[in-house]
Amino acid sequence: MKFYSTNNTSSRVSFKDAVFNSMPQDKGLYMPVSIPRLDDKFINNLDGYTLPEIAFHVAQNLLGDDIPADDLKVIIDDAINFYAPIIKLESNVYVLELFHGPSLAFKDFGARFMSRVMSYFLEEGEKQLDVLVATSGDTGGAVALGFLGVPNTRVTILYPKGKVSDIQELQLTTNGQNIRALEIEGTFDDCQALVKQAFTDPELNAKYRLTSANSINIARLIPQTFYYFNAYAQALKLGKNKIVFSVPSGNFGNIGAGLLAWKMGLPVQHFIAATNANDTVPQFLKTGVYQPKPSVATLSNAMDVGNPSNWVRIADMFKDDAAHLGQVISGYRFNDDETLAAIKSIYDHYKYVACPHTAIAWQALKDYQQDQHTDNTTGIFLSTAHPCKFPDVLPAEIAGHVEVPEQVASLKAKEKQAVSLGKDFEGFKNYLLKNA
Ligand SMILES: *Cc1c(COP(=O)(O)O)cnc(C)c1O
Repeated sequence: MKFYSTNNTSSRVSFKDAVFNSMPQDKGLYMPVSIPRLDDKFINNLDGYTLPEIAFHVAQNLLGDDIPADDLKVIIDDAINFYAPIIKLESNVYVLELFHGPSLAFKDFGARFMSRVMSYFLEEGEKQLDVLVATSGDTGGAVALGFLGVPNTRVTILYPKGKVSDIQELQLTTNGQNIRALEIEGTFDDCQALVKQAFTDPELNAKYRLTSANSINIARLIPQTFYYFNAYAQALKLGKNKIVFSVPSGNFGNIGAGLLAWKMGLPVQHFIAATNANDTVPQFLKTGVYQPKPSVATLSNAMDVGNPSNWVRIADMFKDDAAHLGQVISGYRFNDDETLAAIKSIYDHYKYVACPHTAIAWQALKDYQQDQHTDNTTGIFLSTAHPCKFPDVLPAEIAGHVEVPEQVASLKAKEKQAVSLGKDFEGFKNYLLKNA
C-alpha cells in the first residue's frame, strides 16, 4: 500500500517512509491511497475470529505486501497481547475496555504496534532510532512501555513537573533500559516546544536519528481499527449487529480509526464524538464552521485539545461527500460538572467506575439514545483509560472502589528516575548532546 499526504493526494510514499517521517513535508497527514473494503465473508463471520486474527487480517488488507505475512503476524502477536472486552452495563449499553495493556490506556494499541513496526523497518547497521516525546501523561506512558526493550531504539520523554498523576509519573520514570525521563520545569506546551525545536536543530539532527511518536503517525492509527472490528465481533456473538460507538475524543485519532474501520466495511450505524469543553468538532457538526481554538484545561485532560490533529484525516475520508459526515457522526460536549455527575451516575447505576474521559463517552451515548427515540441499536462506549490513573479526579467515595490492576502494584515498588531540566532549549540540547 502506498500513502499520500492529505495536502497532496498525488504524492506517494511507502509505508516505511510514512512511519519514519510521521508527517509529510507539506504538513498534511498520511493516508492510504485507497481504503480496501474487506470481504463480506470476513465481516459477517467476525465472531469466529480472535483479536489477533482480526488484527492480522485488517492490517494485511491495509498494508498489502509492505510487511510479509509471517513478519506481520509476529509483530501483531507481540504488540496486541492483551484483551479488549465489551462489558454489558444495560441491555443496549456496553463499555469497550481498552485499558488492559501495560500503560492502562488505549494508546497502548498504537504505541506497541508502532514501536515494533519501526524496529522491524530499521536495517542492519542503521543508526539507533531516537524517539523524542512530550507528554501530558498518557501518551508518554504508552510510548515508554511500547518501546521498552525494543532493539535499536531509545525514547526520551519530556513531561511537565507536577502536572501528571502519580501513576503516570511512575510509568514514565521507572523503566530504565532504553527509556529516559526528563522532568521539565514548565507546562506541557513547554515540553512540546522543546521537542519541536530539537527536530529542527541541525546539530542534534546530525548526531542523532530523531523521530517523534505522536498521535499522527499512521502506524498508531492502523492498530486502533483492530478493536472496533473486535468489539463488533463480540457484539455479533451476543446477537447484536446494529452498533453505535461513542468515542471520547481529543486529537480524534481514536474515532478516526473507527471511521477507517467503517470505510473498510465494518457496518457501524453511527459514531458519537464526545468531547469535554474543548468542543471544536461538536461545534463544527452543529454549525458547519470549523474553528480551532486554544485548549482549555479540564478534568479529562487527555482530551484537552482545541485543534485536533487527526481531524484532517476524517475530513479526507469524507471529502467526496461532506454532507455524509453529519449523518455518520454526532457531536456531544460536556463540562467538568457534567463529567463528575456522569462518573457518579455510572457508579450509581452499575457500580462501575469510569475514568473522566470514559464518563464523557457514556453521557454522550445516553444523550444520543434519548435523542433518537428509537431503540433498536446497541451502544458501545469506549473506555480509554483505567480509572486508577486519575485518583484525584474521582469523587472520594468512588475512588475507594477502584480495583488496582497488577500493572500498578508492581510500579509502586519501583523507584522514580528522572533528570530535572528547565524549559530553555539550550539546557535540553546540552543534555542530549552530552548523553549519547
Ligand atoms: C489520548 C486519550 C484520549 C483522546 O484520544 P484521541 O485519539 O486523541 O481522540 C481519550 N482518553 C484518554 C484516556 C486518552 O489518553
